[in-house]
Amino acid sequence: MSTIGARLAEVHARIAEAARSVGRGPDEVSLIAVSKAHSAGSAAAALAAGQRVFGENRVQEAVRKWPELRRLSPDAALHLIGPLQTNKAADAVALFDVIQTLDRDRLARALAREFARQGRRPELFVQVNTGEERQKAGVLPGAADAFIESCRDVYDLPVTGLMCIPPAAADPEPHFSLLAGIADRNGLPRLSMGMSADFEAAVRHGATEVRVGTAIFGRRPSV
Ligand SMILES: *Cc1c(COP(=O)(O)O)cnc(C)c1O
Repeated sequence: MSTIGARLAEVHARIAEAARSVGRGPDEVSLIAVSKAHSAGSAAAALAAGQRVFGENRVQEAVRKWPELRRLSPDAALHLIGPLQTNKAADAVALFDVIQTLDRDRLARALAREFARQGRRPELFVQVNTGEERQKAGVLPGAADAFIESCRDVYDLPVTGLMCIPPAAADPEPHFSLLAGIADRNGLPRLSMGMSADFEAAVRHGATEVRVGTAIFGRRPSV
């Protein structure tokens, strides 16, 4: 087995164990392999090991890397997990299956326009800035309910979940439970939370997607 294949198996085992510890089924959690900044060859190795769901944080990088990988594995699913500029909305709607970083009205409007133009409706998650960090993307927790409602009612967007990136130095668990509460009261079934350092805690708090890069692909080459 390749190194990447072995690490994938280990991450899957850890997800299953964390899920079982709180009475959840392992198949309630989808592992997103975050291949950002890694080569197409690394992503291909994960595909060869059976991995089918991937995350990228930059539209342009994904546009360069993924069309060829998709030809090899037409059933691969791609999630956008990084900030989306409105001028890249067309490329993002064309390429991604899920866009996890919807966080402002202007972007909601741009996505609605592209959905109509392209006849494609990728699933959308609203990103919540649970730590209320000045430099971080995401809608503030106090504004989340109104924003989700406007995405649904004003723009008719297929919002199915929430995503958060807790502050780097903080205990992530209060952030995971805050996000779960917002999802619950808005009837959203999907929760994208947890990365290499904390995905087991996220699974215990109800994550349905964990975004794991380093634990699968190793350290990212500096860019
Ligand atoms: C890079 C990234 C990840 C993966 O981080 P690791 O610590 O390498 O697992 C997850 N989510 C987002 C939004 C990222 O940008």
